[in-house]
Amino acid sequence: MVGWNPWHGCHKISSGCLHCYVYRIDAQHGRDASIVFRTQEFNLPVKKKRDGSYKIPPGEQVWTCFSSDFLLEDADPWRDEAWAMMKKRADLQFLFITKRIHRFTEVLPDDWGTAYPNVHICCTVENQDMAETRLPIFRSVPIARKSIVCEPLLSSIDLRPYLGPWVHQVLVGGESGPDARVCRYDWILDLKEQCREAGVAFCFRQTGAKFYKNGKIYQIPRKYQFSQAKKAGLDFFPTPK
Ligand code: SF4
Repeated sequence: MVGWNPWHGCHKISSGCLHCYVYRIDAQHGRDASIVFRTQEFNLPVKKKRDGSYKIPPGEQVWTCFSSDFLLEDADPWRDEAWAMMKKRADLQFLFITKRIHRFTEVLPDDWGTAYPNVHICCTVENQDMAETRLPIFRSVPIARKSIVCEPLLSSIDLRPYLGPWVHQVLVGGESGPDARVCRYDWILDLKEQCREAGVAFCFRQTGAKFYKNGKIYQIPRKYQFSQAKKAGLDFFPTPK
């Protein structure tokens, strides 16, 4: 797995952004995360070594734009070049997460066709309102692989109207950071049950920093948030038909 951040910085768009880690980390370094800029590693997918081979070897999964939103308005002048690199490196799997799926069709490259097969897009829905706003759009747009990310999970969510074979996976998790909002175990269990009923893969990624279970709020240090979620043993993969 390789990270590629072609641009950095973002603007808050919904309640899931309140404690955005990009803002938090930039603030620790005295930077303003609302200033969006193209990074030095913009060309990383097509960069080569001295021997002529690509720096990113074939077969890698490339976590794309994790210090911004790939569909951010400020990045419109740069995105066509980024799409072109993703197309050129058909031997890599690119994955990005967006809260701006409403912009998707207006920023597609001309040669997108039915979808670049090596681009996996995740749409974030942190509460019911965002699920109802974003998922009808997400369901309708041409993308080879689509996953739903409920992270930071801020309320119970009824995904039933949307779950179906078009969804590759649902990933859920709490919020990290010192001001994290509480994530409840019963919300997680409910989403897992919804996925099981619909035959959609489910992954409990992380607890977040404040986790409510059995009438008690647990403060969970960052280093245990992923391992504690795994220990819950909730991940679910449907049996292939
Ligand atoms: S869209 Fe993502 S990167 Fe941008 S402010 Fe919101 S949480 Fe941060």
